[in-house]
Amino acid sequence: MSQESPDQIFADALKRLDRAAEFADIGEEALLRLKSPKSVLEVSIPVRMDDGSLRVFQGYRVRHDDTRGPTKGGIRFHPNVHPGEVKALAFWMTCKCAVVGIPFGGGKGGVVVDPKHLSRLELERLSRGFIDCVADFIGPETDIPAPDVYTNAMIMGWMMDEYSKICRQRTPAVITGKPIPLGGSLGRDDATGRGAYYCIKELETRKNWTPENVRVAVQGFGNAGQHVARLLHADGYRIVAVSDSRGGVFRQEGLDIPRLIETKNRTRRIDAVYHEGSVCDCPDCGSEQCQCEDCHCDDGPGAKSKSITNAELLELDVDILIPAAMENQITVENAARIKAPVVIEVANGPTTCDADEILIQQDTLIVPDILANAGGVTVSYFEWVQNRAGYYWTEDEVHDRLKEIMSREFVAVYDLMTQLQTDMRTAAYVHAMTRLGDALNSQGTERFFSNHVTSQTPPKTASA
Ligand code: GLU
Repeated sequence: MSQESPDQIFADALKRLDRAAEFADIGEEALLRLKSPKSVLEVSIPVRMDDGSLRVFQGYRVRHDDTRGPTKGGIRFHPNVHPGEVKALAFWMTCKCAVVGIPFGGGKGGVVVDPKHLSRLELERLSRGFIDCVADFIGPETDIPAPDVYTNAMIMGWMMDEYSKICRQRTPAVITGKPIPLGGSLGRDDATGRGAYYCIKELETRKNWTPENVRVAVQGFGNAGQHVARLLHADGYRIVAVSDSRGGVFRQEGLDIPRLIETKNRTRRIDAVYHEGSVCDCPDCGSEQCQCEDCHCDDGPGAKSKSITNAELLELDVDILIPAAMENQITVENAARIKAPVVIEVANGPTTCDADEILIQQDTLIVPDILANAGGVTVSYFEWVQNRAGYYWTEDEVHDRLKEIMSREFVAVYDLMTQLQTDMRTAAYVHAMTRLGDALNSQGTERFFSNHVTSQTPPKTASA
């Protein structure tokens, strides 16, 4: 994996704008505006730990652009959070909301912490502490956080509650991805994976796929990875490999996804289903040659499931590769070895700019992150609408509306790609930048203002 510096991630992200600008005339001023975030807040969050000691955590909230609506985007809790990375993530949110045409700009937040090392009470204090620090910066009409890496509905519930206490007013619309009884939307939990699934269904029609013949590898088995794997598996797709941060499993015949999800969520280990206690002495255990009698793999001798690393998963000979973990997974170091002809970017920023070039030359079709994972923020938008209206939708209504938006925007981007004879990422940015450019330029540009003296009709002097 690449060791690209977090500042480089933002610079890299902006390169996509320049590439798209070759195809879309959104104007110099709009480009200039989009290259710098609107505001960047850095906070220090003091937290009393369970043993009585005090720790101070660093946190960030970036608002990239709010021309099309309040800024919107998740908060991640991760040890590698860095302001450069948060800026890139906020920029992608601006583009993502524009791709699917929802009335939001882009924002993102993060706290430098490994939440696995906190107790539940410490986690709650940190979550509330973060909101205390950013309360003046967020709000239902200004900036609306949501879950991201290592944050979940319960954390969003604590955050909404803290904000409501500060404002002395119940304010559910300040945060999305909340628990359902606290004003969350039905269908938000699986929305990111489901949005990607709807994109794949559109591709299925265009490529004439028979799901049973399509081999899929999913890197990352958190919320989005699990749901996209579950939905594809239910349709008959053969999910041959999945992995999490500790590594993964591969099985040529396809994995039992519902069982993997259940075990992963119970044990937090992805390999527990196929390999728990299976390190038998036979060197071939888990491999295609394994014929040993005392194999402990759950599926018995010759089960042909084997442990693989995250790096190996990316390079598997599969039909669809779904990076659903972190950014910078496909880099110049491994891009030439990516065999999958189709990559669905469920993670944010899994492919670096340079790797993109290599994949494009290999004719790999990449459904880019700003489209493929936009289902999450789309249902966040639905949640915000429901909170403000005080009127809640059924799960079927949420699914239908999500499908309508994802399918419509997928088709628009796919057709634009064909029309412009470019790659799908560039087409998605052109699509987003056209909407952003229309909004940014509608308040006037240099061309308009530099002509104001000559173009204006002189006021008439009142006659006596
Ligand atoms: N964190 C998600 C994303 O990166 C969801 C953001 C949201 O719902 O606002 O798209």
